Amino acid sequence: MNYLKFAGPVIDDAMAEVVKQTLLSGWLTSGPQVAAFEQALSARHGGRPTRVFTSATAAMEVAFELCGIGEGDEVITSAMTFFSVGNMIERVGAKTVFVDCDLTSRNINLDQVERAITARTKAIVPTHFSGLPCNMDRLYAIAQKHKLRVIEDAALAIGSSWKGSPIGGFGDIATFSFHPNKNMTTIEGGAAIFADEVEARRAEVLRFHGITKLADGTRDVDYPGGKFNMSDVSACLGLAQLKQLDQWCAARQKLATQYFAKLSFVADRLGLSMPAPAYAGEETGHSWNMFCVLLPLAQMTISRKQFIDAMHAQQIGIGVSYEAMHLSTLFRSKGHREGEHPHAERIARETVTLPLHPSMTFADVDRVCSAMIDLIRSHQRQAA
Ligand SMILES: *Cc1c(COP(=O)(O)O)cnc(C)c1O
Repeated sequence: MNYLKFAGPVIDDAMAEVVKQTLLSGWLTSGPQVAAFEQALSARHGGRPTRVFTSATAAMEVAFELCGIGEGDEVITSAMTFFSVGNMIERVGAKTVFVDCDLTSRNINLDQVERAITARTKAIVPTHFSGLPCNMDRLYAIAQKHKLRVIEDAALAIGSSWKGSPIGGFGDIATFSFHPNKNMTTIEGGAAIFADEVEARRAEVLRFHGITKLADGTRDVDYPGGKFNMSDVSACLGLAQLKQLDQWCAARQKLATQYFAKLSFVADRLGLSMPAPAYAGEETGHSWNMFCVLLPLAQMTISRKQFIDAMHAQQIGIGVSYEAMHLSTLFRSKGHREGEHPHAERIARETVTLPLHPSMTFADVDRVCSAMIDLIRSHQRQAA
């Protein structure tokens, strides 16, 4: 039986060929492929200004700098997201203000966002967890009312939509990731989509040393920019991947549906918590980057680590997304403690990510479900 990874990219011969052509083209770093990739991403997102970066993390750091977020500012985000979000807020010198997430959708709790807003709040950074969009109507109503920037962590949401519009195709700034575990890859890479062409041009400066060109042919720097430009080799792979994205998202949707079909009828009896199928019905287009469940650990005689190891022994890869960010050593050192965000903390303890990527078959899904159900059943605590 071959090992079933929990995530992974699809790379075919045609993609390897375009990479080879770019390698042999004589132009490796940012050039015509980057321009073409940005153009194609923009076209998918309502023609909005788009720039690519070395990662979603880099795109987010530049977005924060662009919005003038820094010392003395507060940025509200969810305790249930990837570390990069808190890291970038702290790196630009701002204060991370955590709120909890919804237990099922795992998306940021917008009631708590509203209560967390102060005179120092500059931005909201919501993560579209596993590719399920946040409630965009409510999010942008809050942002508009309080005149806040929104930088959407859409790392997992390339291919997701809200009421028929792609995530990134409307709103303020959205950042995507093209890490190999996401729905499409450039090996490492990311993008930001802007509402404003002037901001997109400034992002271009910030991603490349802060350099501007002067009329006399020399260069100048007015801001200590980073070095976050994507190579043409990555961009040409991204272009080829983008052409397959819709097909891959459709395959993910079918596999997710198969998970629901196999698990829903036993979930209650097992004490397994399922993900939200979509919380605005037809309004929500889900990229299905991850399929995460909560294990009934309180009723089990084995730990999550033992569960993951036992699945691994059966050639099944399992992920954990995510740890509770406020309980990292970094944020504990700033005074955060257990009990602040109960949903995020419970998810962090109990979550597992089941394999989900377009190369899988329904039989693979069935194998994962059988293995998981057997493990939970055979390690159930006996009722007293
Ligand atoms: C992967 C991921 C990121 C970071 O993406 P990189 O391209 O690796 O920087 C940020 N946020 C979320 C939710 C992610 O899953």
